[in-house]
Amino acid sequence: MTSGTRSLKGLRRGNKAAVLFLLMREGELSRVRIAAKTGLTGASVTQLCKELISEGLVEESGEVTKSVAGRRETLLRFAGERIAAVGVNIESDNTHVSLCTWNEVLAEEIYPTQMLFERGIDKLNERVAELASACGGRKFVGVGIAASGIADERSGVSVTSYGILPDGLPLAAKVREGTGCEVSLINNVRAQARALITGCEDDFMLVKHGPGIGCAVISDRVTVSGATGRAGEIGHIVVKEGGEPCRCGKRGCLEAYVSEKHLTELYRSKTGVELPVSAIYDAFGGDSAATGVLDESIGLIALSIGNAAMLLNPARVLVTGGIFSRKPLFDALCEAIDRAGFGGTFAISQVGDDKKPKAFSGARHIMLERVFGV
Ligand SMILES: [Zn+2]
Repeated sequence: MTSGTRSLKGLRRGNKAAVLFLLMREGELSRVRIAAKTGLTGASVTQLCKELISEGLVEESGEVTKSVAGRRETLLRFAGERIAAVGVNIESDNTHVSLCTWNEVLAEEIYPTQMLFERGIDKLNERVAELASACGGRKFVGVGIAASGIADERSGVSVTSYGILPDGLPLAAKVREGTGCEVSLINNVRAQARALITGCEDDFMLVKHGPGIGCAVISDRVTVSGATGRAGEIGHIVVKEGGEPCRCGKRGCLEAYVSEKHLTELYRSKTGVELPVSAIYDAFGGDSAATGVLDESIGLIALSIGNAAMLLNPARVLVTGGIFSRKPLFDALCEAIDRAGFGGTFAISQVGDDKKPKAFSGARHIMLERVFGV
């Protein structure tokens, strides 16, 4: 009986997510159209919509007249602007703390990570609590923390953030204690990938560059975890045996060759000039030293992406941040993927900063988890 109840609940949660994603993509639909597009019965849709309306997630937005029967049908829409969450995106350079509805970033604060955590997490808790209290009359879902490194999503423990926070820190519990909010912890790249889930064709790999390189795999809406939650650690696959030391403790990892720190050091060692990494990116195709440094890194990234895609067979590979944020560098990546023989096996595209991946990551993660049930 217990497992039967659980699976029924799971089914209802899946149906609820299907209706919400459908309304999110299509704007407004009548109950009849929702039933036709989801394959659910009219009675199920009526019941689900009643619940979603009472939860404030869906609202009636108008009426259409069906031309044949002349019957009027009420249109429904996803009220994404009525839910809010605080998102925290912790990376080695900067930490973003944001207040978001489903579609809009209401407030975003960016702190140098070292400064924010120099006296523990009190300052973070203070910013989270203040933003949470500013959500107005919206339904407050909680706080989603997207942290660099290995995050144990079940226990909310940051297993390691490669030196940003102490290893084994029960981060979710500490923020919950400090703010009184519901908190969920996840790896930052996985959160940024989850923020791109639309409920349709969710079969992709997100590769994020800057300051390191990471990857997350979404298969049929689900984030692939692996046995110990480390699936997608593309930065720590070995590209040169016995090569450069990596912050993870191994040698020859991809990240040891393509991190932004490595790119600036390599450029300095070749030219004697210290340039910020963004200037090195801008100099690609002009300055021969910058072009050489970046070509080599892009070659290694292209091979790693191609090999990962051969194993995982995603429909799409999405790339974002750092070296992927400039068009000429993205074009060079596509050429390197073709040269390595992977051309045509997957579609590849950029996710631009206009999508605000770092502001939405944690907020959308907890909304998906707590509201959509995915
Ligand atoms: Zn490594």
